[in-house]
Amino acid sequence: MRCPYCGGSDTQVKDSRSSEDGAAIRRRRVCPDCAGRFTTFERVQLREVTVLKRSGKRVPFDRDKLQSSIDVALRKRAVAPERVERLVSGITRQLESSGEAEVPSETIGELVMEGLKGIDDVAYVRFASVYRNFREPKDFEDLLGTLTGSVPPPAEPEAEEEAVPAPRRRAPRARP
Ligand SMILES: [Zn+2]
Repeated sequence: MRCPYCGGSDTQVKDSRSSEDGAAIRRRRVCPDCAGRFTTFERVQLREVTVLKRSGKRVPFDRDKLQSSIDVALRKRAVAPERVERLVSGITRQLESSGEAEVPSETIGELVMEGLKGIDDVAYVRFASVYRNFREPKDFEDLLGTLTGSVPPPAEPEAEEEAVPAPRRRAPRARP
């Protein structure tokens, strides 16, 4: 793997570990020439997916682009990176295994919205308002209606609290 800083071709792997429940291998690398450090990911790609954009243009599906559009929606929100990672992986897998040669960008947008709805309401509204290009305040109300209507309240963290007694929620640190 070529060094992104100096272009050196002799980078070394310092550390490898699996992430995303074993769906990817993450490698920390270091360049002996410039001491630059970077991370690479090794992932399974089941199939090439082509995205059909609204403009009619066709572009290869890009996981990193998907990730960054979700990151923008989640900016400054306290959401664990693993949850975002799982969402991105889940959407990617769905697209790769759908059997469709082309996926309209709308379909991906809907999948992202569905996923964000279950993760963070603010990110969901941010993404949806950009994605749906709202013009009327009513659009916004309709969207907020979907949050209070069909979507169950954010029960996940509460359920966890009930299941795990409070003192055990954080592993006690050994004091010196
Ligand atoms: Zn380098």
